[in-house]
Amino acid sequence: MTSPATTRYTLDPAPDALALAQDLLNTTGVGTQPDLLADVPSATGWLAQVLPDEVQLSATDLEDLRAFRADLHDLITPGTSATSVRHTAAELVLGADGVVELRPGGGGAEYVISRVLAEVLAGQQGDTWRRLKACKNERCRVVFYDRSRNNSGVWHSLKTCGNPANLRAFRARNKEVSG
Ligand SMILES: [Zn+2]
Repeated sequence: MTSPATTRYTLDPAPDALALAQDLLNTTGVGTQPDLLADVPSATGWLAQVLPDEVQLSATDLEDLRAFRADLHDLITPGTSATSVRHTAAELVLGADGVVELRPGGGGAEYVISRVLAEVLAGQQGDTWRRLKACKNERCRVVFYDRSRNNSGVWHSLKTCGNPANLRAFRARNKEVSG
């Protein structure tokens, strides 16, 4: 799949198995980038790239998807938890070859959420889920896949967010704006 929301932050997307979850999280607008789920036309444009011809969204779906995105973002941010429990449709299918497959279900937002939760489940079972992280810079929060050997990364980019000089400049600018 393509990851338009993630690659606009000049980031390498997560492995395929977590790419949709990451891309949904990165539809959030950071800096000058717009929120790709701000309205139905832009959300439809994003979906056409990540899940072509699979699903359509109404305005209500969009609201639901944004709420889910916020919850998922909280779940990967240390010290926060989701505001609600989520239920979505999905099927367990036993194939003729004996392989069990989790098939996402539902329509609209529920379908997208079901697809993402299937990735989260696989990521939790395969222990890759904890590598998906929100950047530690509070003004950023872009979601990156930590490829460091000991899973110790905290910045989405060392250059822009992990650089102490940049952070100081950030804070100084904030102070000027707020007071
Ligand atoms: Zn960052």
